[in-house]
Amino acid sequence: MIERTLAAAAVLIACEGSHPSTPARSAYDPEPTVIAGAFPPDRSPDGNSVILQAPRGLIVIDTGRHPAHQDKLLAFARQVGAPIAAIINTHWHLDHTGGNAELRAVYPGAEIIATRAVDGALVGFLPKGRAQGQTLIASGKATPQQIEDIRLDRAAVDDTRNLLPTRPIAQSDAVYIAGRRLDLHVAPFAATEADLWIYDAATKTVIAGDLVVSEVPFFDSGCPAGLRAALGEIAAAPFVRLIPGHGEPMTRDAFARWRAAFDALLDCAASPSEVATCVAGWRTGAAAFIAAGDSARIDEYTTYYVTEILRSPAAHERFCHPLRAE
Ligand SMILES: [Zn+2]
Repeated sequence: MIERTLAAAAVLIACEGSHPSTPARSAYDPEPTVIAGAFPPDRSPDGNSVILQAPRGLIVIDTGRHPAHQDKLLAFARQVGAPIAAIINTHWHLDHTGGNAELRAVYPGAEIIATRAVDGALVGFLPKGRAQGQTLIASGKATPQQIEDIRLDRAAVDDTRNLLPTRPIAQSDAVYIAGRRLDLHVAPFAATEADLWIYDAATKTVIAGDLVVSEVPFFDSGCPAGLRAALGEIAAAPFVRLIPGHGEPMTRDAFARWRAAFDALLDCAASPSEVATCVAGWRTGAAAFIAAGDSARIDEYTTYYVTEILRSPAAHERFCHPLRAE
């Protein structure tokens, strides 16, 4: 009997890499909790965070950028009386990873589960953004809010120990995290060089990261063809609820409507149509997902993305291949 118990413990350690001394929680709510990311006009955004309760603690999917967002995550952990056992980063954008350090300052044992795409970002994309931030501060033209956001991002990029995965994910697989089974899907060349999206069969929920951004897809490091392919794979999952990287949770029908608008935007950008026609097409097709009063700002983003990413062969070349030093 003792041998069997030890063998079981060994399997547990091998499978989960978690602390065997952490007692399993006997009862917990399997339903996901969404901590909505903010995107006020004068600040960089926070991505949505999703908290899943598990037998050995909490799984936090994406950690936001601002301390106010992380405070909400930590308050939830205190409220349910469970430690944060694991962080999953859907992708390395700093509005999804910037809070890793704050959470691990309180829960140092929390593992970081992500793809290795951040390796490529750290040799080119992120240092370039860091330098651009420094230039903006030096110019004296940055607002106090911009300066604070630039400093937050700089701290996150410098703190690679809290940015790199402790448990790298190379391929799609069912994995146990803190004792809870999740289906992790790797989407190559999507919002980043390799994104993760998660299917939780227990609650039929897809956690999509920035493969789905309600108001306008963020193409800043995105590969349009890879994003389109990933949305097709998501559509094949039997989910009833999808939590996007930014914006409200979606039903299957809502996701289908959003996806149709996404495909129409890519098709328009690939056609000889005027940029304004593509922008107007998105504004109409995705109207249900664009907050009241946000139309003008979203038009600006869409115009930029059509011009600088979707119609730029250099952008396709850069983001549909592994990132390099620049
Ligand atoms: Zn995001």
